[in-house]
Amino acid sequence: MIIAIDGPAASGKSTVARALATELGLPFLDTGAMYRAVTLVVLRRGIDPADGPACGGVADEIELDFDAGSRITIDGEPGEPAIRSQEVTAHVSAVAAHSSVRATIVPHQRAIAAGGGAVAEGRDTTTVVFPSADFKFFLVATPRTRAERRAREEGRLEAADEYEKDLEHRDALDSSRADSPLREAEDARRIETDAMRPDEVVARMLAIVRGGGEPPQPPAPAVEERAFDVRVERGLTYRFLMFWVHLGYTWIWRMRAYDTGHVPSGGVLIVSNHQSYLDIPLIAEALRKRHVGFVARASLAKSRVLGFIMRHCGSVLIDRGRGDHRALRETVAHLRQGDAMTIFPEGTRTRDGSIGKFQGGALLAARRARVPIVPCAIRGSFTAWPPGRKLPRAGRLELAFGAPIDPRAKDALEQCRAVIEERLAQLEAGTVGSLVGE
Ligand code: C5P
Repeated sequence: MIIAIDGPAASGKSTVARALATELGLPFLDTGAMYRAVTLVVLRRGIDPADGPACGGVADEIELDFDAGSRITIDGEPGEPAIRSQEVTAHVSAVAAHSSVRATIVPHQRAIAAGGGAVAEGRDTTTVVFPSADFKFFLVATPRTRAERRAREEGRLEAADEYEKDLEHRDALDSSRADSPLREAEDARRIETDAMRPDEVVARMLAIVRGGGEPPQPPAPAVEERAFDVRVERGLTYRFLMFWVHLGYTWIWRMRAYDTGHVPSGGVLIVSNHQSYLDIPLIAEALRKRHVGFVARASLAKSRVLGFIMRHCGSVLIDRGRGDHRALRETVAHLRQGDAMTIFPEGTRTRDGSIGKFQGGALLAARRARVPIVPCAIRGSFTAWPPGRKLPRAGRLELAFGAPIDPRAKDALEQCRAVIEERLAQLEAGTVGSLVGE
């Protein structure tokens, strides 16, 4: 039996493929290790990784094999850990892009699997190496999740940003090359692994391979998720704070909220641009008849006052380096219990008033909880409280909601951004739709 697993860098393929191979008693074939091995020898010999014929010559000449533990050997010597070095990682995509290299490596991969089958993982195992594999999977996760996983594995949490850039660069090279680019095979089963532990991914694959039926995607909530004691009620602290917020946002900032009718009752994820500290109470005030929770950076809670407020108002705190999975599960628990949760996909307040890059992780909670996403555009709060200013100034704050978006849509994040930009332009031009609350 051949099981082929592809996906972008650090999407969890090797961990999962190795475990699946052990479960099924099949050899594990790490195809990336073979390209890494060629790259290692290319670099050791001082060959230019851009030199196709020379790299192809190396691939031809060296003897690549796998030992009993499925670890690569190069001319009989262990290839680990040298093949995982930063230098090899930085050049492997260039070397692997040469057809002269692939022409040697791909037949070799097929020969290895010809004996007793394999669980193979890489970039082209589902499309080129084993197009008629018995089972094909495509693993995906957002660049942020992948970078954080890698940073955790390497014990360098502070390097997540650097890893994210490297991964995106390598993905771009692997997906754009002419020979066997990384792409999702039409007949592969896609598994989104952001909110899943490796053992959950393996269990899902095993269920499919063993014919026990495909568990629903997203997976059933883990026990831990149901165990969260989430607050969706407007407790005493919340109502007390909202009393003052109401005064402030009516008299100091003369709030205008448009199209709040787009926000359905029950669980909903509000996705908004982030202009200043005034945004959180602004959204809560616009929807003051219900509880509104927030997903916020844990570092904000270091301030005593803010920490107290956030903990008592049902906010979910994200510890960017560590607690993303917990935060995700907690957000899902809120949504499943019918709460409105707000997330700022830019991750932080704008520095200059413009809208920054949206992080895809924002949508995961809505996907898992199966609740709609409502985009929200905020205007005026950057002018009222720009970064560096100690206290906010008075002025007009406006926000406009957009129609709900299905979180399962592949381009849900882009749709959100487009609606936010459109609504901002309307606020700017004074042509926005119906006014619901002032
Ligand atoms: O999976 P891993 O990160 O070890 O792969 C290293 C590199 O090898 C990839 O970034 C890609 O350039 C190349 N590769 C490939 N085809 C495969 C597996 C890996 O081109 N099947």
